[in-house]
Amino acid sequence: DASNILAAGDVVRDCLVLTRHQTEVSGIEIATDLQGEANVRMARTELQQVLVNLILNAVQAMPQGGVLTVRVADMQDSVTITVEDTGHGIAPEAQKRIFDPFFTTKQAEGTGLGLSISQRLVTRTGGTLEVHSIEGQGSRFVVTLPSAQEG
Ligand code: ADP
Ligand code: MG
Repeated sequence: DASNILAAGDVVRDCLVLTRHQTEVSGIEIATDLQGEANVRMARTELQQVLVNLILNAVQAMPQGGVLTVRVADMQDSVTITVEDTGHGIAPEAQKRIFDPFFTTKQAEGTGLGLSISQRLVTRTGGTLEVHSIEGQGSRFVVTLPSAQEG
């Protein structure tokens, strides 16, 4: 049904508003490249949950500030939403486990559930959630969702 067709860029903007306090406190610069016409079919609150998780992870990886880049790209049959940070990155051994429930490297504020829930929500929608990270340089999480045609 048409009620779940979302412009991915609109949802990204909402999520950047929801997380504005955290990004401001950490002095994080935000860069966006959001294509207006990239539509996906997903419950809005679920896509928000995924993107807020990714944004807050990025913020927590840059306690001294940095750049958060969020991009939406229309790839014909799919839409990619990329959340990239210039934070501490993820060690290769940890990269194998970050999608496991309860895996966390955080002292206090981490439950280790964010990525496992996010990956489940995305795969249930027919998409994928992938990580590319270089220790000491930063991380890039790529959400790929099937495109939704309007009408
Ligand atoms: P939590 O944030 O509660 O620890 P997540 O499932 O969201 O749980 O993330 C699991 C782990 O993956 C984090 O503890 C961290 O080690 C790693 N991680 C996730 N996102 C990033 C990121 N952007 N930069 C560095 N490490 C990350
Ligand atoms: Mg998290």
